[in-house]
Amino acid sequence: MEKNYCIKCKTFVEKKLTSQDQVYKVHGKDIKIKADEAVCINCGTVIYDEMVEIAIINKLFNEYSMREKVPPVGV
Ligand SMILES: [Zn+2]
Repeated sequence: MEKNYCIKCKTFVEKKLTSQDQVYKVHGKDIKIKADEAVCINCGTVIYDEMVEIAIINKLFNEYSMREKVPPVGV
């Protein structure tokens, strides 16, 4: 399994995904999505995970285009 670096444990750790309500600003509007967040299984610190980041960006654009009735913008 792919491991991620935890800045608190200072080593590569197993991650777990937790689903969270998160609010992001897209073009000045608050967009709320339910997104996964990768956390360290040892200490619970949020860790960077590329797949998670990509999934969040995709969800944000889908949500934004649905709400604003504009076609999805290519990134
Ligand atoms: Zn940790």
